Amino acid sequence: MFRPALVWMLSLAWLIVTATAQSADIPEPGSAEAIAAATTDPHFVSPWVSYVPASSTVPSPEKFFGRIMGAPGELLGTEKTYAYARALAAASPRVRVFTLGHSEEGREILMLAIADEDAIRDLDRLKGATAALADPRRTDQAAADKLIAGSRPIYYFNAALHSDETGSTEAMVELAYRLAVSEQPMIQRIRERVVVLINPISNPDGRDKMVDWFYRYLKGKTDRDTLPRQSPPYWSKYTFVDINRDTHQQTHETTKAVHRMFHEWHPMVVHDLHEGTPLMMTWNGTGPYNPNIDPITYTEFLELSFHEVEALTAMGMPGVSTWNFGEAFAHLYLDSVAMNHNSIGRGYETFGNGSAETEQRSVSQSSTTMEWYRPLPVGREVTWSARDNLNYQETGALAALDETASESKEMLHNFYKKGWDSWQKGLTQPPYAFLIPENQGDRARVAQMVERLMGQHIEVAQAQQLIQLKEGSFPAGTYVVRLDQPYRNYAVDLLTPQHYPKDGEAPYDDVSWELPAHYHLQAIPTADASIREAALTQLKDAPHVEGRVTGSGPVYLLKDTGQESFLAARYRLANFEIRIAEREFEAGGTKFPAGSWIVASQTGLRDAIPPIAAELGLDFTEVSAIPEVPSHKAQAPRIGLWVPWADTDSIGWIRYSLDQRKVPYTYLRDEDVRAGNLRSRIDVLLYGHVDLELAEQIEGLPKTWSPMPFKKTAETPSFGTPAESDDITGGIGYEGLAQIQRFIDNGGLMLTLGSGTMLALEGGLVRFVRRSSGGVPRSTAGGGGASSAASQQAATRTPGAHVRVTFDRTDHPISYGYPAHTYVFRQNFPLYATPRHWLRMAYCTTCLDGPEDRSGVVMEWGDTDGKAFVESGQAWGEENLIGRPAILDMPVGKGHVVSFNFNPMHRDLNRGDQRLLWNAILNWQAIIAGQPKVAGAAPGPSPEPEE
Ligand SMILES: [Zn+2]
Repeated sequence: MFRPALVWMLSLAWLIVTATAQSADIPEPGSAEAIAAATTDPHFVSPWVSYVPASSTVPSPEKFFGRIMGAPGELLGTEKTYAYARALAAASPRVRVFTLGHSEEGREILMLAIADEDAIRDLDRLKGATAALADPRRTDQAAADKLIAGSRPIYYFNAALHSDETGSTEAMVELAYRLAVSEQPMIQRIRERVVVLINPISNPDGRDKMVDWFYRYLKGKTDRDTLPRQSPPYWSKYTFVDINRDTHQQTHETTKAVHRMFHEWHPMVVHDLHEGTPLMMTWNGTGPYNPNIDPITYTEFLELSFHEVEALTAMGMPGVSTWNFGEAFAHLYLDSVAMNHNSIGRGYETFGNGSAETEQRSVSQSSTTMEWYRPLPVGREVTWSARDNLNYQETGALAALDETASESKEMLHNFYKKGWDSWQKGLTQPPYAFLIPENQGDRARVAQMVERLMGQHIEVAQAQQLIQLKEGSFPAGTYVVRLDQPYRNYAVDLLTPQHYPKDGEAPYDDVSWELPAHYHLQAIPTADASIREAALTQLKDAPHVEGRVTGSGPVYLLKDTGQESFLAARYRLANFEIRIAEREFEAGGTKFPAGSWIVASQTGLRDAIPPIAAELGLDFTEVSAIPEVPSHKAQAPRIGLWVPWADTDSIGWIRYSLDQRKVPYTYLRDEDVRAGNLRSRIDVLLYGHVDLELAEQIEGLPKTWSPMPFKKTAETPSFGTPAESDDITGGIGYEGLAQIQRFIDNGGLMLTLGSGTMLALEGGLVRFVRRSSGGVPRSTAGGGGASSAASQQAATRTPGAHVRVTFDRTDHPISYGYPAHTYVFRQNFPLYATPRHWLRMAYCTTCLDGPEDRSGVVMEWGDTDGKAFVESGQAWGEENLIGRPAILDMPVGKGHVVSFNFNPMHRDLNRGDQRLLWNAILNWQAIIAGQPKVAGAAPGPSPEPEE
């Protein structure tokens, strides 16, 4: 745009000449001109994508949509994109479409397969070949060599995963057409040697919301300084940016679809297309690298990345880099399904405007220096268009496919070799297996962890009889993960603690994902090779544990051994009266710890209990009389879950967990909080972790954009789910904060998690707790890379690690089901001091802070028994954290506020922490009735609360 027109036109002529000279393609008339017009600088396009090849039989995107891909001011939604994909498949024998699944809102998730005609006819055989190569136990080297000679690598692209990263759908649509019709020699070679899979819209719910958002709020706006919020408040039913951090848990339909695709096709590469860095970053991580990934993978992804940097740089495209993004220790992203299963997971970050309009953009100084990983940097100011972004994505993709075509046999060999290496490690070096005892206090949770492993195609068996090993004896029913299997490396990664190096680069996200730590369970490694002789039954389906009802009598007891399903059970029994024991008691020769349930005889109870025991894996005991023990009433509270419009992401995971457990709650929008009258509607106000500063938590999205409706209309048909609004700006405001205060004053219980705790402790709802320096204010480790490492080094950081804690109040209901010393999962949050009786008066030098009052400290950071602080992951500056409150329970008016300095509801991963929150919900009346107790005082029966 700012270049003299003559220079541009000359460059364009050169591009067209070079493009046509090296190919047999005839450009579609007008395509080169339209692309040039939509490209802001001739350096921002390659000869490969500077035109669209003409075809007399196959419809080009321009013929179908009436415009080129990446045209300014337009975005494709799912309906049009899929219609084109089907038209392409109908017209070309080199293209087929497949349905990978359906989204939460029912939209199709579609995939294109593109290759030469022979391969498209032969897809089943090619899929069979990669599946056989994936399992070296049934494919010996000779058979593998034969398969490799007759097959080819499969390369999968995943577009539009993050909905505000809007460019990749159209880049992939144009790529699909180009691959199908171009006779350019490089593309012929790709077609002949590779099968290309393209998922143009991996999260269709978010795509359609984003497209509606663009046309409603962003179209025609090009001044970046005055743009309104660039994204709808939701991208999917539950989450926002976290949709790509779901690979270990597979909760979203987007994730499930890609995982199903993976295990059906076994692509050598799964490639996510993101937009976050100028002008293009091809991931390979700074290290430290995860030791449980085969070393071949790290060399392969470096090779692919450097080929892209080389190819685009050679074509004069500036700003292409690799390295200095993420660390490649954590493989918890969507592409990681490949990383964790012996393939290659990759990603781009290109420069997205978050809009289809052309904008003037500033590039940060740190992205403009010449480095070994960025040989041709870009300047500080660029005019950037949707087509520029597309040019980089599509050119990069072609470079990657070209490299894959060149190395196709080597990649197949490597894929087979990685499966072989993994399997052989399980045969030749300890551990040879993990043993997961069935009875660890919560049999259902053990079964759920086994289900997670099996969901990753990790094979799990069950012992048919007692197994004697040098580590001990394990009863029949013990789950056994033998490690002589192709996904041994991933099994080891999921079942052992992570050790993130303390002097490593700053991590990008979590540093621990060990499942036994997340689930608070044991998986015992064995170095005894005789495990291979043990009689085992291979599990075909995930286990389901049924609870039992034993004994006899009208009273039911439920022994608290830490079962997570207590919350679900309470709501299944919502209409029944239940009491919770405050101390250990004995009945029928069995000891029942504090937290156990006492359910007296009630009409309908005998029919209600057995199905709940069966469904939730809970064992009830019938006894003849109510045991003598202090207990309190535990009514199922009416839960209100406040979801601020400014950040719906992390709280989405709470909604997911409650929905999975069929626990009812009221979804409270900002406007619902403002409307007040909360105490008459709910008993417990749950406010989860949000990635917002205090002012943003209160004031929400800037009112300068008001009103911003998020409502289903003819113009915006995808809006309004899962919640709607006439105006998402303005937050709860001080009006809403006052309503929350009134709710607590009137005897409500407020629960705050993670950075949501800032609102309670720093917003003044709770007094006398001082924020301490040294913490990291926001949870996201974000940014990653070397530049942020030094600045983060000084602060206290636990960026997603399992760390030790100690209960100060072992009598407190939150401790039910837990030992006095345990651990929880913690990300980076502010640090808070122990409460005091008063804080220093302003200007007063003699009236300093009052004495500490630990009566509200339920749990503190660190293990007072002296165990090492880190259970799995890593921590920095932990000396400043140890001893500080991890959970505070503070009286306010007639109510209480319980504040967690961590997030027990992290992405449906830390299931073993969830019971802490469930305890607070289940025992809400006792917590409110408790009022301040003196630490160490003997607990007595709680007074009945007012109702
Ligand atoms: Zn992204």
